[in-house]
Amino acid sequence: MEFLQPGSLVEALAAKAASPDAVPIAGGTDVMVELNFARRRPLVLLDLTRVPELAGWSWQDGRLRVGAGVTYAELTGERDSVSDNGLGRLLPGLAMAARTVGSPQIRNRGTIGGNLGSASPAGDCHPSLLAAGAEVEVASARGTRVIPIDEFFTGVKRSAVAPDELITAVWISPPSGPEQFAKIGTRNAMVIAVAAFGLALHPGRRSVGTGIGSAAPTPVRAREAETFVAAALDEAGLWDSRNELPESVVTEFGALVSAASRPIDDVRGTAAYRRHSLAVLARRTLAWAWSDYRRTGQNGSAGGSVPVADEE
Ligand SMILES: Cc1cc2nc3c(=O)[nH]c(=O)nc-3n(C[C@H](O)[C@H](O)[C@H](O)COP(=O)(O)OP(=O)(O)OC[C@H]3O[C@@H](n4cnc5c(N)ncnc54)[C@H](O)[C@@H]3O)c2cc1C
Repeated sequence: MEFLQPGSLVEALAAKAASPDAVPIAGGTDVMVELNFARRRPLVLLDLTRVPELAGWSWQDGRLRVGAGVTYAELTGERDSVSDNGLGRLLPGLAMAARTVGSPQIRNRGTIGGNLGSASPAGDCHPSLLAAGAEVEVASARGTRVIPIDEFFTGVKRSAVAPDELITAVWISPPSGPEQFAKIGTRNAMVIAVAAFGLALHPGRRSVGTGIGSAAPTPVRAREAETFVAAALDEAGLWDSRNELPESVVTEFGALVSAASRPIDDVRGTAAYRRHSLAVLARRTLAWAWSDYRRTGQNGSAGGSVPVADEE
């Protein structure tokens, strides 16, 4: 096995162009499992950890550019405790999701680019990225392009990234309202989601974003639920009044999210349980986010949540 270690993005893209079958390795928390269990025997490994262009995050034109090599620890702000401006505060939905990933060791190694690279239906970044309306930047020796997140996942563990491309960054507009994420697993930590749900209130454009994880062949949005709740909020003037959400709206939202899923029975849970749990997660996250919106008046990022591990 050849091990390539480029020191710049140009070098990495040239290596990928020369060997499109080369397997990129970032944190290695998925790749090493596949190698150790002999599920994959690549001829070339392309180590991305020394490519400076993939590290860190920045503001650009009013949006956040999060490098593909940014780890979960950076997303949660665990590495930014002295700064008020850490990513954890700027992207609260993604930070909540990142906090539920693996263990401290996995959160220190695993990256957002690796999560997208694996494109698992259970990847924990994906529901929050869908809810936020993120875009994925990919590059090759041919140039750079940006893929809207809801066009990124093309099948089970498949994505729109071409063989000669690398994921370079994720672009996200800072949220104009509260975000939430909740995940159900068979235990409280070190667990692949049985079902997960990300939600973002976008008062700036009077819409609601959603993302379903682990309950369809790919991570998906619950589009009908989004349309329904945005219309309900608008018609009742709730964006301005910030009055309580009618229970009927919360219930119908949960039902529509559940209906948008296409789950299967597997070792982690049945399709019926996933459908039921998604309705619960959707109702809870909407209620939490709305309560944050009412309380904070602007951005509910201060209102955190914990993963939901129980069933109603
Ligand atoms: C014990 C354990 C617990 C885990 N818990 C969770 C969990 O709770 N939630 C969760 O979502 N995941 C979990 N995972 C899976 C894994 O940690 C995540 O998917 C992580 O984000 C992978 O990132 P990485 O940097 O380690 O990727 P790697 O393993 O380096 O790569 C993953 C895939 O992405 C590709 N890739 C990496 N970087 C790029 C790039 N820049 N461009 C193109 N392709 C790229 C690789 O070729 C590979 O196919 C867990 C894994 C382990 C071992």
